[in-house]
Amino acid sequence: MVETVAGIQAVLGEGPTWDERRKVLYMVDIIGQTIYEYDPHKETIHKTALNQMIGAVVPRRAGGLLLALQHGFHAYDPESGKLTAIHDPEQQLPGNRFNDGKCDPAGRFWAGTMSLTGEGGQGALYRLDKDWKVSRMVESVSCSNGLAWSPDGDTLYYIDTPTREVAAFDYEAVTGAISNRRAVVRLEQDQGFPDGMTIDEEGMLWIAHWGGARVSRWDPGSGKQLGKIELPVPLVTSCTFGGPNLDQLYITTARTGMSEQDLEEYPLAGSLFRTKPGVKGMQTIAFQG
Ligand code: CA
Repeated sequence: MVETVAGIQAVLGEGPTWDERRKVLYMVDIIGQTIYEYDPHKETIHKTALNQMIGAVVPRRAGGLLLALQHGFHAYDPESGKLTAIHDPEQQLPGNRFNDGKCDPAGRFWAGTMSLTGEGGQGALYRLDKDWKVSRMVESVSCSNGLAWSPDGDTLYYIDTPTREVAAFDYEAVTGAISNRRAVVRLEQDQGFPDGMTIDEEGMLWIAHWGGARVSRWDPGSGKQLGKIELPVPLVTSCTFGGPNLDQLYITTARTGMSEQDLEEYPLAGSLFRTKPGVKGMQTIAFQG
């Protein structure tokens, strides 16, 4: 059974992140320029409005949040409302914005960019280390999206949406280096485009299908699909495991670009969904800087 979390309807919902420490779920509305904080225990929703688009939010070990905003990496203190700019690696590219991001097993933050007009190959994937040094890790990215690290910490999985593929890289936890890119999963034309992604404790990938009305589970070893969860909306953007036992899958969706007629047909578009898929996820890693 898939249920909706009442009170959230995003234009472009994205980036669900479970905060282990506070037992809350964060997500963003990229176009709505808002961070949502959902507390499933208290059943409360707290919204933070920003003055630019936001691609991703993750908790910081030092407290507060790390944000990938339209104009670069920022630290945010929800208590005081103070926003501190860290670095914008694309200051020279005003036609780009940050999109999806996540921390690696060593607590470095990875986030990528895309062109605001959808022009191909204009973006890149960046790594922000705990000393706030930024490295460009993948060049010529069109729409940087899902990121996940294998449970053994040796592999990075990455989605550049228009490729319709999940790429795998060898990943070195000590240095944060990646190498040996290869494709491990490929979506067919009629399945939509791969968007956000998470991984379960068995090392299987959960992929959100933009234009495919589902989340699907894949074995990156064999490249085979193992299952799917259908959703009553077409634009499925990302997913993550959450809840005190990490056994609930939270799924974000969008309503951007849909016609009046489509919105009547899919009134739940933009909602946050939740289901229990029968497997547990990996713990969210906080940014260590
Ligand atoms: Ca996305």
